[in-house]
Formats: sequence, structure tokens, C-alpha cells
Amino acid sequence: MHEMSLAEGILQIVQDQAQNSPKVHSVTLSVGELAGVELDSLKFCFDVVTRDSCAEGAALEIETVPGSAFCFDCLAQIPLSRRGDACPRCEGYHLTVVGGDQMKVKYLEID
Ligand SMILES: [Zn+2]
Repeated sequence: MHEMSLAEGILQIVQDQAQNSPKVHSVTLSVGELAGVELDSLKFCFDVVTRDSCAEGAALEIETVPGSAFCFDCLAQIPLSRRGDACPRCEGYHLTVVGGDQMKVKYLEID
């Protein structure tokens, strides 16, 4: 499952950042609308992989980053909430994603 490996990656980052801190209270992620991440599934996997780690029971906060793309027909940047959608201006598909396609760990609250 895609989300399971993402959750393991998050835990790895959290453990690197938290070092010897006994307890991680919350982890804030920024997730792009176009990152292709199933958030409910990611939360579930996060709970599973953090068992018996410093992040066990930590709250997973998720900030959504809006997707954006560049339209080669309009020569403009346009908002795009889903991959495969058409340009909202010209209804064309000559687009390249320029933002909101990544996931990263933004902030940790630790002891
Ligand atoms: Zn367009």
C-alpha cells in the first residue's frame, strides 16, 4: 500500500528530528491536493507504524496545499484540484502541474 510506505517515511523523519525526545505530541504535514495521498488511509497507517515508537499516539495534523498547474494554451498558472481535470479557463488539457503535488513534514510538537 502506497500510504503505508509514506507513513514509514514520515516516522523516519520524525525520529530523525525528535532525536532523544521521549514523546512526540503532534506531527503537522502539508499535503498537496495533487499528491495522490489518501488522507484517511494515511492517518490509519500512521497510527500503525508509530506503535511502540516516540510518536505513538501523536496527533497527525494535515494542511492541504491547493494544486496548481500551468496551462500552455492560456500561458497562465491556473488552480487545479485534481489531476486529469481540464483547465478552468479554456477547458483544455495542455497542462503541467507546478504546485501542490508534494507531501512534507512541516512541524513537530515534541517534549
Ligand atoms: Zn487554459
